Amino acid sequence: MKFADLHLHTQFSDGTFTPEELVLHAQKGGLSCIALTDHDTVEGCARTAAACAAVKMEFITGAELTAEHQDTEVHIIGYFLDTQNPALLARIATFQAVRQNRIHEMVAALNKMGIPLKVESVFALANCRSPGRPHVARALVKEKLVGSLDEAFERFLKKNRPAWVPKTKMSALESVDLIHQAGGLAVMAHPGLNHNDDIIPDLVAVGLDGIECFHTKHSTSMSEHYLEIAEKHDLLVTGGSDCHGYSKGRPLIGTVRLPYDHIERLNAARKAANEARAAK
Ligand code: AMP
Ligand code: ZN
Ligand code: FE
Ligand code: FE
Repeated sequence: MKFADLHLHTQFSDGTFTPEELVLHAQKGGLSCIALTDHDTVEGCARTAAACAAVKMEFITGAELTAEHQDTEVHIIGYFLDTQNPALLARIATFQAVRQNRIHEMVAALNKMGIPLKVESVFALANCRSPGRPHVARALVKEKLVGSLDEAFERFLKKNRPAWVPKTKMSALESVDLIHQAGGLAVMAHPGLNHNDDIIPDLVAVGLDGIECFHTKHSTSMSEHYLEIAEKHDLLVTGGSDCHGYSKGRPLIGTVRLPYDHIERLNAARKAANEARAAK
């Protein structure tokens, strides 16, 4: 049997692996196919594609777009994106700028509370266009201003804590369009974490292609529930570990294993979408 992991992060967003390390772990885990889904960026795709090509592993480009619909934060993954698409790059650049400004705001809030963290420390550690709260948390740990990442989130960074700063997000409906015009398929990530299935029909109405039924934080019954929803709305089924590096002492990549027949369906849907676009 061949398996895939379609939800992975690298150092190009808030993961800790380089693309090469990610692919090495994918190989060790016996995966045949991986997709890179860094937050609001496609920067890591070229290097990951090259590392996959070197070991003859199938690679799918991607990005996990931070979006919202009816006041619910929703993550929409674009798969098979043209990573050079000018409209995609221009639009995600504005959200990368939002993320960078937010680092300044979070650090200012921390400084106001007497926590002497410097923005330079966060940016040096993040070293990517799409920094986020995990980088602030890691910088706080590195500077010994907190004892752990958990403490950083609990005391300062969690929603409604003193250094929490909301971020402007793309509308989920726009994200689906943006993904389509960049040649991709749009998939709703970890719906089980949203606690709001009501938004699914709205996304389907604007052309959502798939739904992530299998995810580290989905229970078996949750996965079954979303498989039923996929069937009801005729959506593609995806899954992945949402690996950001090591978790409890082992790399999370490969702990969610999507059977390869789903990749065949994704490839077929991509081909059909491309042909439909070409015929227009
Ligand atoms: P951001 O996109 O900057 O708001 O950061 C969101 C990321 O922070 C998520 O993808 C998680 O990886 C991480 N995160 C959110 N809440 C927590 C938490 N309570 N503890 C640890 N990590 C968290
Ligand atoms: Zn993340
Ligand atoms: Fe997510
Ligand atoms: Fe993710």
